[in-house]
Amino acid sequence: MQIDKEKCTGCEACHPYCTVGAIHSVKKDGGEDLVSVIDQDECVECGVCHRANICPTDAIYPVELKWPRSLRGVFSDPLTVHKDTGIAGRGTEEMKTNDVTGRIRRGHAGVAIELGRPGIGTRFRDVDIMAQAVAKVGVVFEPKNPVTFLMVDKSTGKIREDILNEKALSAIIECGIEMDKLENLLSVIKATAPKLNTVFSLDLICKMGEKGEMETLPIAQKVGFTPRPNTKNNIGFGRPLAKEE
Ligand code: SF4
Ligand code: SF4
Repeated sequence: MQIDKEKCTGCEACHPYCTVGAIHSVKKDGGEDLVSVIDQDECVECGVCHRANICPTDAIYPVELKWPRSLRGVFSDPLTVHKDTGIAGRGTEEMKTNDVTGRIRRGHAGVAIELGRPGIGTRFRDVDIMAQAVAKVGVVFEPKNPVTFLMVDKSTGKIREDILNEKALSAIIECGIEMDKLENLLSVIKATAPKLNTVFSLDLICKMGEKGEMETLPIAQKVGFTPRPNTKNNIGFGRPLAKEE
């Protein structure tokens, strides 16, 4: 995203709309008048400042993004469709539609690590650190997830080198693991957290037991997490239902 400094009046109306605080005022051509500029290193290309249509002089305009910068828009702008998954946004629908896909079986847990949030975002360097850490525990990365497409090696979780400095509003690592390895995996995630320059939220998914029990819950509590158990699914809509093996 760019701001045309000839059109900008320095009114600062756009500043609060930026999702990562990348817009600030500078003196125009060394004089006393102010204009707004976008810090290109911080901008995640989410498009909010442009879509909000608040600029009185139409000074904010999108530019064509080339690789690897184009990745910012793919992960940050929900109107951009990921070219490999065909899915708009950062994740896949796999976990929300497990009643149909049956990807997460009994005895297994699905794990999603959502790095970055509005206000801070995430560099792919941080995604790389977390992905490589969890790969050592033996997770299987979700093949249709956009982050998995960016790995040069799905067994090590290594993310391609040319995108590590790119920044997005958020990016989700999705993987599966056997339930008996979940405690170890969660311990590794906890130990890796201080190495990151961003925040993340952690989603744990499992099939519920006959009485509504969630196997993942006591494991997460044991490792020191404070889970908020809830469900996010499409009860009654998914057909045909996945069959248990
Ligand atoms: S495109 Fe998004 S991140 Fe970039 S300046 Fe606009 S609101 Fe901020
Ligand atoms: S809203 Fe438009 S005119 Fe006002 S500071 Fe932002 S870019 Fe400049």
